[in-house]
Amino acid sequence: MERIAVFPGSFDPVTLGHVSVIKRALSMFDKVIIGIGINSEKKSMFTLEQRISWINAIFKSEPKVIVDSYTGLTVDFCRQKNAHYILRGLRTSADFEFERGIGQINSMMANDIETVFLLTEARYTPISSSIIRDVIRNGGDVRGMVPDEVDYKSK
Ligand code: ADP
Repeated sequence: MERIAVFPGSFDPVTLGHVSVIKRALSMFDKVIIGIGINSEKKSMFTLEQRISWINAIFKSEPKVIVDSYTGLTVDFCRQKNAHYILRGLRTSADFEFERGIGQINSMMANDIETVFLLTEARYTPISSSIIRDVIRNGGDVRGMVPDEVDYKSK
């Protein structure tokens, strides 16, 4: 059976922290589906099309990485994709507490789906999409935080 993982998130925008988790997960899974969750109550900074196109550009030479979007429960999206693993990154103990709740509720809803956590690389610990959005909003430079493909200035 193919080992398929879903990496859910907003990816608004995708960061070097996300890319590191995805690349490291490739040795564990046959396919990593980046699932961009659409939350109608959360306004994103970048459009879904833009977020998808950056991720496609970053992983254009990696056929094991696929990007898609979904609404509703992550476990339902996993079932649709025949994925038995949810991939998440852990930066800090605050991430752990947050992820523990989501992961345990997900396994109560779908006990055939395991959540797998990868620790962030130390250098990427302070990077989060929300801080990046703040820096961008205020005209700061996000080189070294997002992949070069995230060319938000030309948009
Ligand atoms: P969410 O909208 O759920 O906050 P994000 O797009 O911010 O989703 O992140 C998706 C996943 O990537 C989460 O598991 C998050 O912990 C992880 N992640 C975010 N930033 C980093 C980072 N710098 N290093 C490792 N993992 C990260």
